[in-house]
Amino acid sequence: MPDVIRLLPDNVANQIAAGEVVQRPASVVKELLENSVDAGASKVKLLVQEAGKTNIQVIDNGQGMTENDARLAFERHATSKIQKAEDIFTISTKGFRGEALASIAAVAQVELKTKTSDQELGTQLKIEGGHFKSQDFCNTPQGTRIEVKNLFYNIPARRNFLKSNNVELRHIIDEFERVALAHPQVGFEFKHNQTSLFNLPATKLRQRIVNVFGKKFNEKLVPVEEDTPILKLSGFIGKPEFAKKTRGEQFFFTNHRFIKNGYLHKAVLNAFEGLLQDNSHPTYFLFLELPPEKIDVNIHPTKTEIKFEDEKAVYSIIRTAVKHALGQYNIAPTLDFETEAQFRNSPQPSGPVKPPQITVDPTFNPFETASPKKKPSGDGGSGTNAGFGRGSYQGGAPVSRQSQQWESLLSNLPEVEKTEQVQAKFDDAPSAPAKQYLQIGKKYILTNHGEGMILIHQNRAHERILFERISNAIASQNIPSQQLLFPQNLKFTPGDFALLQGLLPKLTELGFDLDEFGKQELIVQGVPLYLENASLQAVFEELIEDEKNHKSQDRKEQSEKMAQIMAKVAAIRTGTVLEPSALAKLVDELFACKSPYVSLNGKAVVVNLKLNDIDKSFH
Ligand code: ADP
Ligand code: MG
Repeated sequence: MPDVIRLLPDNVANQIAAGEVVQRPASVVKELLENSVDAGASKVKLLVQEAGKTNIQVIDNGQGMTENDARLAFERHATSKIQKAEDIFTISTKGFRGEALASIAAVAQVELKTKTSDQELGTQLKIEGGHFKSQDFCNTPQGTRIEVKNLFYNIPARRNFLKSNNVELRHIIDEFERVALAHPQVGFEFKHNQTSLFNLPATKLRQRIVNVFGKKFNEKLVPVEEDTPILKLSGFIGKPEFAKKTRGEQFFFTNHRFIKNGYLHKAVLNAFEGLLQDNSHPTYFLFLELPPEKIDVNIHPTKTEIKFEDEKAVYSIIRTAVKHALGQYNIAPTLDFETEAQFRNSPQPSGPVKPPQITVDPTFNPFETASPKKKPSGDGGSGTNAGFGRGSYQGGAPVSRQSQQWESLLSNLPEVEKTEQVQAKFDDAPSAPAKQYLQIGKKYILTNHGEGMILIHQNRAHERILFERISNAIASQNIPSQQLLFPQNLKFTPGDFALLQGLLPKLTELGFDLDEFGKQELIVQGVPLYLENASLQAVFEELIEDEKNHKSQDRKEQSEKMAQIMAKVAAIRTGTVLEPSALAKLVDELFACKSPYVSLNGKAVVVNLKLNDIDKSFH
């Protein structure tokens, strides 16, 4: 058999290697911006056309390249940043692998103009698909201008894989923000299709954050500062009351490189524990500085994942520092006082402490029908607030066995019942007792049903009702819309706004009446009827968050998802006290739904407590 192994030609090898470094236009932007920062530029300009699919230009005033360097820069593993293997352990530049330019040039048409301070004329190079096309002298200011045209023009499969312009632009903005935040001392400009998205003068971190994310951020930020022998931590966290539904602004930088690290993210979440509402996300911009030899940035080609020598120590420093910062601003108890504080605030008992005890009227029978013969003591007679559940807390009387059983019954609620099992339509026999509705713990509705009773989760029930209504309206293309008396202005970060722009046609279909205002604002003139009372900011934040996480839904899936989001935001929350008439209405509307038993997240909405089961728990 003849020999079959061959060395791949360089341009093919580069194309394959490019797969790792260049996934989308945003990867090119990241690499080029980082090169400019590494070259010591004080000003960097980014010009992008069509979300980077047709044209990306980065222009800097850094040190530039000599003629020879300019040519070498496009060779694989050509770098000025390290010389020997050990150097990667003391690296302080963004790049060092010498792969980016070679990879980019392998999959695009690239034009470079560059000049150093001691040259009269600069160098101009053209490379296409990894092949040198031309080299000339040129007139150009000191620094480097790289233009990357028609990314993946020679790999149609990769080009087709790119997402919509809005999504690709969003990725570019993400990368731009990361580099801009990591280097506030460098001025950055960013234009997309002639529109200026960012114009960031050189400044300090706090001002840079404000310039990137908007003036409102200034009052949201709390500084974090911690200097330890292991690492220096600095930056800002957002006050908990400003936490958002979108995961947006969460940044870790290690030695001025943006990194992703789920473990360290948890350290921040942990420090915020108890201060955030459900589903809201803390904001943070945290800079870790530690000796380069204590980290390994080499584990990932795009270098966003890194290894720490002592990750546990880093975790606990971050957690403590964030807690401390929150505490200093009187937002949370500081670490040291955390447990003590509870004792200090509670009244000092004079004698031995007695546990609270529960009394329950032993004659009260919650399973009796409409008009109980005897009402529990203390009930004003409305019949809607009878002493169900936990009883009243008074010292003295022994804990009743009945109440213990009642509690255990509640904690062992059966799984959601199948449709056949619960006769849902409330078509009880004519002799059936009148319906009674009772709100329990500000979250459940208890009502008698047949001989037993059912418990309904008010929030999930209302979500289900709204979801089915909105879905029906979408399906029949007849969404009732309500014009707002006072149109609302909502402001977004440029990145979020870019994503929203892609959603506008869909939102109009769903009953929104929206106008774009400037580059970052929407004016809401009208909303779908069901959202009349919902927080619009919350609706849009949820929509953006969802769009970030689910980028390839088909239209039907997308409609359904939006209906879900709107239903969730507009639904009656757990903790809302409801009038008896509202309880009745909610229950009726729930059972008019197609799937009343399952919540939008697949959990139980209704729990059936059959007389049999109740009897059993009294054995
Ligand atoms: P790396 O950044 O890992 O060294 P790159 O492929 O990104 O690899 O760049 C190769 C080399 O080209 C760099 O080491 C640097 O010397 C030079 N270079 C790239 N971009 C610039 C720039 N904007 N200004 C000056 N030199 C640059
Ligand atoms: Mg580089």
